[in-house]
Amino acid sequence: MDNKKLADLLYPNALNVEDIEKKYPERNLEKGAEVTRFAPSPTGYLHIGHFFSALVDYQIAKASNGVFYFRLEDTDKKREVEGADKIALEMLKLLKVYPDEGCLLEGEKGCYGPYIQSQRLEIYKAYAKKLVSEGKAFPCFCKKPENLAEVKEERAKRYGAEFSNEEYDSCRNLSFEEIKSKIEAGEAFALRLKTKGKNGDRIKFVDAQKGEIEMQANTKDVVLVKENRIPPYAFAHPIDDHLMKTTLVVRGEEWLPSAPAHLEIFDALGFERPKYFHAPLISKLNENGGREKLSKRKHPEADMRFFIKAGYPVLAIREYVLNLISSAFEPWRTKNPEASLDEFKISPKDITAVMPIFDIVKLNDVSKNVIARMSAKEVFTEVLKWAENNDEKFALILKQRPDYCVKVFNIDREGPKPRKDIFNWSMIEEYFSYMFHKPQCFDAVEDKKQFKTFIKVYLKEFNFPLNKEEWFENVKLIAGKLNYAVDNKLFKQQPEKYAGNLAKACEHIRIALTGKKDAPDLYTLISILGEKEVVERFETAIKF
Ligand code: GLU
Repeated sequence: MDNKKLADLLYPNALNVEDIEKKYPERNLEKGAEVTRFAPSPTGYLHIGHFFSALVDYQIAKASNGVFYFRLEDTDKKREVEGADKIALEMLKLLKVYPDEGCLLEGEKGCYGPYIQSQRLEIYKAYAKKLVSEGKAFPCFCKKPENLAEVKEERAKRYGAEFSNEEYDSCRNLSFEEIKSKIEAGEAFALRLKTKGKNGDRIKFVDAQKGEIEMQANTKDVVLVKENRIPPYAFAHPIDDHLMKTTLVVRGEEWLPSAPAHLEIFDALGFERPKYFHAPLISKLNENGGREKLSKRKHPEADMRFFIKAGYPVLAIREYVLNLISSAFEPWRTKNPEASLDEFKISPKDITAVMPIFDIVKLNDVSKNVIARMSAKEVFTEVLKWAENNDEKFALILKQRPDYCVKVFNIDREGPKPRKDIFNWSMIEEYFSYMFHKPQCFDAVEDKKQFKTFIKVYLKEFNFPLNKEEWFENVKLIAGKLNYAVDNKLFKQQPEKYAGNLAKACEHIRIALTGKKDAPDLYTLISILGEKEVVERFETAIKF
């Protein structure tokens, strides 16, 4: 068959491949710089597994002074969710894993576009024509080529039962005349690869993390362009990654079985193969201790919005996922507690080979440490940002009294051993509820009469303290009067003996102010709450 004639028949007006290639020059990057990309399909949310890959892409590009770009793989219109690219990009921006180039929120950036696959159909067509003209692809007129059962039925009808189970597509044997008459009759066709693979052929390739992999070579005449003229991922990504000069393709392990077909397509097109890294899928332990893939239908944590909504700080999310990715992260973090995460160099070899297990307890731990390292002002800024999107009432409280709130968030924060109880912003109002709301219940009180008597006296004698010592003297004095701590001199001489009494006095004050037996340092509470609020709370406590 005259392949060139066939190519002209199928694609009379295609662009010239050489002209396209000229528009995509080599990138001017230093040696060793990696070009990575995040290329999601528009599903409408960012799956934790995709974030895992995007974070690997980002870290590797940053560490090598390379480029991390964003491409939208929107060729499967059936699965497309409107505005999905924006959702994914906004999430990447929020998580500070924003690409350098691509179809970004602020518009297209970079010289290797368009970065949206549905805008690249003419480019794919040019390469489709090239393959036909080289005898490497052929038109297939079977209907619905993506449904195997129907394809077989259709083939059996057209060409006889003996063809129905062939691996190779029977349309590869059509003559030029047959094809021509079908085209003239207006029949639509899909383009298929004329695979060179035979059963038993092996293919070897290097996965950046797994090392050399040997698999059964592709033996299928896979679809390169569908009947609707749109290429599936198998044909679109080799062309895009070649033209956009990707050096490392990071993608989920679910793509590994189709890697032989993809590599055959790279070879057929005459492109250099990129390095592939197949990222392990993230799993979760189920009730029976078995592992299951994190899926959006079953696990809310599969969608990255879950973490933002719960108020995990971005830094904690990134640290946690870096922990999942690489065992080298934790030692690095311990050595460099203040360093920017961008400085952490991921090498694919350090990346976990086994399915990492998502563990919220570990995330909470990471997050507690991240939050403990923040200043009260940083906490305030983050909490306000979170509350504005998730809790309007709390946002209002924060905005009305910013200085007060910073003081509250500073409780137990400074000093060598800051408390590590808070792991996300959605728990902070409850955690400090007594600083934002008067206590409603005094169930913690053991001896109601004793409590009320003490608070009554304390209220009468209470002086808003100038400093901690003065405050403590005042408590001791009142406690002494009520026979909780005899007198000051005795207390000083035998503190152990009278400590219990004094502790009881402090417990009363604590419950009156917070409703709880355990609360942070009393003097700190009193000075932050202020005289008016403290007095009001004592008055309420007496009435209960
Ligand atoms: N569009 C593919 C997906 O969403 C991307 C795979 C890849 O990164 O090459 O899974």
